[in-house]
Amino acid sequence: MNKILIAEDEKPIANLLCTALEGAGYRCIWAPDGAAASDFLEAEPFDLVLLDIMLPKANGYEVLEYCKTLDVPVIFLTAKGQLEDRVKGLRLGAEDYITKPFELMELLARVETVLRRCGKTGRVLQLPPDIEIDTASRVVRRDGEPVSLTVKEYDLLLLFLQNKNVALYRDRIYERVWGEEYLGDSRTVDLHIQRMRKKLGLESRLVAVYKIGYRLEV
Ligand code: CA
Repeated sequence: MNKILIAEDEKPIANLLCTALEGAGYRCIWAPDGAAASDFLEAEPFDLVLLDIMLPKANGYEVLEYCKTLDVPVIFLTAKGQLEDRVKGLRLGAEDYITKPFELMELLARVETVLRRCGKTGRVLQLPPDIEIDTASRVVRRDGEPVSLTVKEYDLLLLFLQNKNVALYRDRIYERVWGEEYLGDSRTVDLHIQRMRKKLGLESRLVAVYKIGYRLEV
Protein backbone atom coordinates (compact mmCIF):
# COMPACT_ATOMS: atom_id res chain seq x y z
CA MET A 1 0.00 0.00 0.00
CA ASN A 2 1.44 3.36 -0.98
CA LYS A 3 1.91 5.84 1.82
CA ILE A 4 1.27 9.53 1.20
CA LEU A 5 2.18 12.50 3.35
CA ILE A 6 -0.29 15.37 3.19
CA ALA A 7 1.39 18.64 4.16
CA GLU A 8 -1.47 21.12 4.34
CA ASP A 9 -2.33 23.60 7.07
CA GLU A 10 -6.03 23.86 6.24
CA LYS A 11 -7.58 20.98 8.08
CA PRO A 12 -10.77 20.66 5.99
CA ILE A 13 -8.67 20.34 2.83
CA ALA A 14 -6.35 17.82 4.48
CA ASN A 15 -9.37 15.81 5.64
CA LEU A 16 -10.87 15.82 2.18
CA LEU A 17 -7.60 14.65 0.65
CA CYS A 18 -7.18 11.97 3.29
CA THR A 19 -10.69 10.62 2.85
CA ALA A 20 -10.43 10.49 -0.93
CA LEU A 21 -7.00 8.87 -0.95
CA GLU A 22 -7.80 6.34 1.76
CA GLY A 23 -10.95 5.45 -0.14
CA ALA A 24 -8.73 4.69 -3.12
CA GLY A 25 -6.53 2.41 -1.02
CA TYR A 26 -3.67 4.70 -0.01
CA ARG A 27 -2.40 5.26 3.50
CA CYS A 28 -2.25 8.90 4.53
CA ILE A 29 -0.53 10.88 7.22
CA TRP A 30 -1.31 14.53 7.82
CA ALA A 31 1.28 17.17 8.64
CA PRO A 32 -0.24 20.56 9.54
CA ASP A 33 2.96 22.56 8.91
CA GLY A 34 6.32 22.39 7.19
CA ALA A 35 8.26 21.42 10.30
CA ALA A 36 5.90 18.52 11.06
CA ALA A 37 6.16 17.40 7.42
CA SER A 38 9.96 17.31 7.65
CA ASP A 39 9.76 15.38 10.92
CA PHE A 40 7.50 12.74 9.38
CA LEU A 41 9.74 12.48 6.33
CA GLU A 42 12.75 11.99 8.52
CA ALA A 43 11.04 9.35 10.64
CA GLU A 44 9.54 7.05 8.00
CA PRO A 45 9.53 6.41 4.26
CA PHE A 46 6.79 7.90 2.05
CA ASP A 47 5.96 7.19 -1.57
CA LEU A 48 4.59 10.65 -2.29
CA VAL A 49 4.06 14.06 -0.66
CA LEU A 50 1.11 16.33 -1.41
CA LEU A 51 2.64 19.63 -0.50
CA ASP A 52 0.94 22.95 0.08
CA ILE A 53 3.16 25.93 -0.72
CA MET A 54 1.93 28.38 1.92
CA LEU A 55 2.67 26.42 5.08
CA PRO A 56 3.53 27.66 8.57
CA LYS A 57 6.99 27.04 10.04
CA ALA A 58 8.64 25.93 6.79
CA ASN A 59 7.09 26.67 3.43
CA GLY A 60 6.49 24.23 0.61
CA TYR A 61 9.64 25.16 -1.28
CA GLU A 62 11.78 24.39 1.75
CA VAL A 63 10.04 21.05 2.30
CA LEU A 64 10.47 20.29 -1.41
CA GLU A 65 14.23 20.65 -1.06
CA TYR A 66 14.16 18.14 1.75
CA CYS A 67 11.98 15.73 -0.27
CA LYS A 68 14.50 15.87 -3.09
CA THR A 69 17.33 14.77 -0.82
CA LEU A 70 15.15 11.80 0.22
CA ASP A 71 14.06 11.06 -3.34
CA VAL A 72 10.35 11.34 -2.47
CA PRO A 73 8.16 12.65 -5.31
CA VAL A 74 6.09 15.76 -4.63
CA ILE A 75 2.81 17.06 -6.00
CA PHE A 76 2.28 20.72 -5.12
CA LEU A 77 -1.08 21.97 -3.93
CA THR A 78 -1.50 25.51 -5.18
CA ALA A 79 -4.25 28.04 -4.82
CA LYS A 80 -6.13 28.93 -7.95
CA GLY A 81 -4.46 31.50 -10.14
CA GLN A 82 -1.00 31.29 -8.64
CA LEU A 83 0.66 30.48 -11.91
CA GLU A 84 4.03 31.70 -10.70
CA ASP A 85 3.95 29.22 -7.83
CA ARG A 86 3.20 26.37 -10.17
CA VAL A 87 5.98 27.26 -12.56
CA LYS A 88 8.42 27.73 -9.73
CA GLY A 89 7.39 24.45 -8.13
CA LEU A 90 7.83 22.47 -11.33
CA ARG A 91 11.12 24.15 -12.04
CA LEU A 92 12.37 23.27 -8.59
CA GLY A 93 11.57 19.62 -9.17
CA ALA A 94 7.97 18.91 -8.16
CA GLU A 95 6.46 16.13 -10.27
CA ASP A 96 3.12 17.84 -10.72
CA TYR A 97 0.72 20.31 -9.14
CA ILE A 98 -2.93 20.33 -8.24
CA THR A 99 -4.92 23.54 -8.13
CA LYS A 100 -7.23 24.15 -5.18
CA PRO A 101 -10.17 23.72 -5.23
CA PHE A 102 -9.57 20.40 -6.95
CA GLU A 103 -11.73 17.68 -8.40
CA LEU A 104 -11.24 14.43 -6.52
CA MET A 105 -11.14 12.36 -9.70
CA GLU A 106 -8.41 14.56 -11.09
CA LEU A 107 -6.47 14.36 -7.85
CA LEU A 108 -6.58 10.56 -7.83
CA ALA A 109 -5.55 10.38 -11.48
CA ARG A 110 -2.57 12.66 -10.89
CA VAL A 111 -1.47 10.78 -7.78
CA GLU A 112 -1.65 7.48 -9.66
CA THR A 113 0.30 8.87 -12.62
CA VAL A 114 3.09 10.26 -10.46
CA LEU A 115 3.39 7.08 -8.43
CA ARG A 116 3.61 5.03 -11.61
CA ARG A 117 6.10 7.37 -13.24
CA CYS A 118 8.30 7.23 -10.15
CA GLY A 119 8.16 3.45 -9.96
CA LYS A 120 6.22 3.38 -6.70
CA THR A 121 3.33 1.19 -7.75
CA GLY A 122 4.96 -2.22 -7.50
CA ARG A 123 2.25 -3.47 -5.21
CA VAL A 124 4.15 -5.46 -2.67
CA LEU A 125 2.26 -6.29 0.50
CA GLN A 126 4.12 -7.24 3.63
CA LEU A 127 3.19 -9.49 6.48
CA PRO A 128 6.10 -8.97 8.82
CA PRO A 129 8.43 -10.47 9.69
CA ASP A 130 8.78 -13.03 6.93
CA ILE A 131 6.03 -12.86 4.28
CA GLU A 132 5.88 -10.71 1.18
CA ILE A 133 3.25 -10.72 -1.56
CA ASP A 134 3.81 -9.17 -4.96
CA THR A 135 0.25 -8.63 -6.13
CA ALA A 136 1.30 -7.79 -9.68
CA SER A 137 3.01 -11.14 -10.29
CA ARG A 138 1.04 -13.01 -7.55
CA VAL A 139 4.30 -14.31 -6.14
CA VAL A 140 4.34 -15.01 -2.41
CA ARG A 141 7.65 -15.26 -0.58
CA ARG A 142 8.46 -16.53 2.86
CA ASP A 143 11.91 -15.52 4.09
CA GLY A 144 12.67 -14.58 0.49
CA GLU A 145 11.79 -18.04 -0.88
CA PRO A 146 8.79 -18.36 -3.23
CA VAL A 147 5.91 -20.36 -1.79
CA SER A 148 3.56 -22.12 -4.18
CA LEU A 149 -0.07 -21.38 -3.32
CA THR A 150 -3.20 -22.47 -5.14
CA VAL A 151 -5.50 -19.74 -6.47
CA LYS A 152 -7.86 -20.16 -3.50
CA GLU A 153 -5.04 -20.15 -0.98
CA TYR A 154 -3.65 -16.97 -2.49
CA ASP A 155 -7.06 -15.29 -2.50
CA LEU A 156 -7.56 -16.31 1.13
CA LEU A 157 -4.22 -14.82 2.10
CA LEU A 158 -5.09 -11.51 0.43
CA LEU A 159 -8.49 -11.45 2.10
CA PHE A 160 -6.93 -11.84 5.54
CA LEU A 161 -4.26 -9.25 4.77
CA GLN A 162 -6.99 -6.78 3.87
CA ASN A 163 -8.75 -7.56 7.15
CA LYS A 164 -5.97 -7.75 9.69
CA ASN A 165 -7.10 -8.46 13.26
CA VAL A 166 -10.71 -8.83 12.12
CA ALA A 167 -12.63 -12.02 12.83
CA LEU A 168 -14.02 -13.12 9.48
CA TYR A 169 -17.10 -15.31 9.36
CA ARG A 170 -16.81 -18.55 7.40
CA ASP A 171 -19.75 -17.61 5.21
CA ARG A 172 -18.16 -14.26 4.33
CA ILE A 173 -14.82 -15.91 3.61
CA TYR A 174 -16.49 -18.45 1.37
CA GLU A 175 -18.54 -15.89 -0.51
CA ARG A 176 -15.55 -13.60 -1.03
CA VAL A 177 -13.09 -16.24 -2.17
CA TRP A 178 -15.31 -18.77 -3.92
CA GLY A 179 -17.74 -16.19 -5.24
CA GLU A 180 -20.70 -18.40 -4.40
CA GLU A 181 -23.32 -18.49 -1.73
CA TYR A 182 -22.23 -20.33 1.41
CA LEU A 183 -24.37 -23.38 2.04
CA GLY A 184 -22.84 -24.37 5.34
CA ASP A 185 -20.02 -26.65 4.21
CA SER A 186 -17.37 -25.35 6.58
CA ARG A 187 -14.89 -28.09 5.66
CA THR A 188 -13.97 -26.47 2.35
CA VAL A 189 -13.00 -23.21 4.04
CA ASP A 190 -11.21 -24.95 6.91
CA LEU A 191 -9.23 -27.23 4.62
CA HIS A 192 -7.95 -24.45 2.38
CA ILE A 193 -7.08 -22.20 5.29
CA GLN A 194 -5.24 -24.99 7.07
CA ARG A 195 -3.15 -25.76 4.00
CA MET A 196 -2.40 -22.11 3.33
CA ARG A 197 -1.32 -21.29 6.85
CA LYS A 198 0.85 -24.40 7.05
CA LYS A 199 2.68 -23.47 3.85
CA LEU A 200 3.32 -19.99 5.23
CA GLY A 201 3.96 -20.93 8.86
CA LEU A 202 0.97 -18.85 10.01
CA GLU A 203 -0.47 -21.46 12.41
CA SER A 204 -0.05 -19.24 15.46
CA ARG A 205 -1.16 -16.03 13.72
CA LEU A 206 -4.09 -17.10 11.58
CA VAL A 207 -6.29 -18.40 14.33
CA ALA A 208 -9.70 -20.04 14.48
CA VAL A 209 -12.36 -17.98 16.23
CA TYR A 210 -14.86 -20.16 18.03
CA LYS A 211 -18.21 -20.39 16.23
CA ILE A 212 -17.21 -17.60 13.83
CA GLY A 213 -14.33 -18.32 11.51
CA TYR A 214 -10.76 -17.03 11.43
CA ARG A 215 -8.69 -14.02 12.31
CA LEU A 216 -5.23 -12.96 11.16
CA GLU A 217 -3.41 -11.50 14.14
CA VAL A 218 -0.83 -8.88 13.32
CA1 CA B 1 -1.74 26.85 3.16
